[in-house]
Amino acid sequence: MTPLDEARDIVLARCSLLGVVAVPFRDALGKILASDVVAAENVPPFANTAVDGYAVRAADVADVPVQLKVIGELAAGARPTQRGEPGSAIRIMTGAPIPPDCDAVVMVEETERVGDDAVRIKTSVSPGASIRDSGSDVAAGTVVFSAGTLVTPAVLGTLASINAQVVSVYRIARVGVLSTGDELVEDGGELEIGQIRESNRVMLLRLVEQAGLEAFDLGTVVDDEDALETRLRSAIDDMDCDAIVSSGGVSMGDYDVVKAVLSRIADMSWMQIAMKPAKPFAFGTLHNARGVHVPIFGLPGNPVSSLVSFELLARPALRIMSGFGDASWRTRVRAVLDEDITRKSDGKTHFDRGFARFADDGHVHVTRTGPQGSHQLAATALANALIEVPDGDGLRAGDPVTVTFLGP
Ligand code: AMP
Ligand code: MG
Repeated sequence: MTPLDEARDIVLARCSLLGVVAVPFRDALGKILASDVVAAENVPPFANTAVDGYAVRAADVADVPVQLKVIGELAAGARPTQRGEPGSAIRIMTGAPIPPDCDAVVMVEETERVGDDAVRIKTSVSPGASIRDSGSDVAAGTVVFSAGTLVTPAVLGTLASINAQVVSVYRIARVGVLSTGDELVEDGGELEIGQIRESNRVMLLRLVEQAGLEAFDLGTVVDDEDALETRLRSAIDDMDCDAIVSSGGVSMGDYDVVKAVLSRIADMSWMQIAMKPAKPFAFGTLHNARGVHVPIFGLPGNPVSSLVSFELLARPALRIMSGFGDASWRTRVRAVLDEDITRKSDGKTHFDRGFARFADDGHVHVTRTGPQGSHQLAATALANALIEVPDGDGLRAGDPVTVTFLGP
């Protein structure tokens, strides 16, 4: 059996960055910046007020209370038409430019209007008070975001604020997902004996999307070598898939067509990984018509195995191809196990499915969500974490464990 770390190294050694593309910044959400973004503009572009209040000359409000003449009003978006004269104040709204010769703003709460054209100022302010200087968020000419930054909604907003219309990002993998098996039904009709409903592909497609990647549905393929080969060829030659994730057909059964086809047309490593679930795992590359090596991940068919294998092997590799770098990996933490887990020594690390939560004692606690069979997807579906149960005879409640978080 291959240790999980070694299996990952084999996979990662053959998954390289797809490349860099320039995109309109609005399309960059969820992608990784491939080069530094330098601000061409100051943000804010002009000095403006942080509060609703009165623009004043600080010297005029050194002794308070003091009454000033209100000589004008300025809303956000308006251009100043007056200068601050000695003894005067200009009513000003958040975001409006500071009028020339004013050097501070007194917030409205510290003032009292006296008739139409006068205001009583109750507090002194120093020069610069409540003024947001030009460039105080982002200064023109500086690096706002360096290469490797994930474009979050807030990064997107910042890119808009500096007018970065086009940015360079790593290309996201387009991942073709297929399932295999004569027994699989997905039309919602009555099941004949021997048939089951397809569940892996619908799950894997959404896992791919939640990993920040592009999912492409390659459908279900019957256990027939020609049908599978045709579908794979069209995925890499006509559908432009950068990688393929398949489920089923990689273990020791006589009808494991994925194994038969890929052994013939791809450069594969067939692995028995020292873990449970998801021991069988196939990984390799297929050459497309343009001579590009397209990685293919052959996940086992049991639904829980498919999920765990995707999480621990395919997901990080597909994200590394898409530029996610260190962010390709799920968060792992130490947690306190809240129940006994009994197991037998079998040379494998078990990845039990559990629910982890931050508790009042300041620690993350974890318990399993139900039965742990590799076909028991319903219990796994309630989990938000994989619990690493090392080889041996199990763990006791209260033991420290490593958990890997799942989820969007
Ligand atoms: P296989 O890896 O093809 O030998 O399949 C192992 C088990 O997983 C069998 O019980 C299959 O019926 C089941 N299985 C395979 N593919 C799927 C799928 N797409 N959805 C649900 N169950 C599946
Ligand atoms: Mg099968």
